[in-house]
Amino acid sequence: MISFDALPGNAALKRALQNALADRFPQAVLLSGDDSAALAAWSDTLAAGILCESAGSRPCGTCLSCRKVSEGVHPDLTLIDEGENELKVDLARRLKAENAIIPNDGERRVTIIRHAQNLNPMAQNALLKELEEPPSYAFFVLTAEQPDTLLQTVRSRCTKFALVPQEEAAGDGEAAALLAPYLEAIAQRREDRMMLAALALEKTPRRALLGVIGVLQSALRDAIFAAKGLPQPPVVAALRGQTQALAGAVSAARLLELYDFLSVLTDRVSRNAAAAAVTCALTSDAYRICFL
Ligand SMILES: [Zn+2]
Repeated sequence: MISFDALPGNAALKRALQNALADRFPQAVLLSGDDSAALAAWSDTLAAGILCESAGSRPCGTCLSCRKVSEGVHPDLTLIDEGENELKVDLARRLKAENAIIPNDGERRVTIIRHAQNLNPMAQNALLKELEEPPSYAFFVLTAEQPDTLLQTVRSRCTKFALVPQEEAAGDGEAAALLAPYLEAIAQRREDRMMLAALALEKTPRRALLGVIGVLQSALRDAIFAAKGLPQPPVVAALRGQTQALAGAVSAARLLELYDFLSVLTDRVSRNAAAAAVTCALTSDAYRICFL
């Protein structure tokens, strides 16, 4: 049965995606990681979640749509998996033409492009508009083992999520412990304390740091909901106190700006940004976004 529970590890990412599926899911997503098999499983689950007919947690695994995705026969799911072959511009044009047709079964259509780094530059350019302004029913899930080789213009049009190998992922508890002082420092409007907390974060191994930033984004999401006065169970329950305090100190609009900035930071970290640049981003850039 297709479900997030069947996927190992990456608990924070899982919850963030489940929440996004329950809300308004981004129409273009780039999922990156080293493990092709894991990327395939995650992208299938995401596609099922987008297409699922359940009103509850998605993908439910049991509705007709979920079963069709599991069996690989959903008419509104296009899967592109050409292994290591180059993906050329005619493919991009074909996908564009297919996306112009309204969905067959439900209200949405999903295109999964595996090994998206193999899209050649011409194909990527041909997809740009489609990624930026797809028809309202169309969703793209790109997976890439080497996301940095994609054109910046493509990456910037996608909401990015990174899978962290299980053995290197910081546990949620560990991430929360690292993040609590940082979130408290922002709520107190103390740039010096933000700096101290960011220096501690900087010591986290690179891959684990991506996971920690993911948890930070989930916590910000909680704070944004709280700041808007929308009651919703927190994604990161361990940081409930901190996210409530943050919601009282920073406006929802600025928190959203910080959330988006963290996606940019994730991108930089995955391209091996220097540790000092990460600290600077989490300190002076974050402070400016929240308060200046
Ligand atoms: Zn379902």
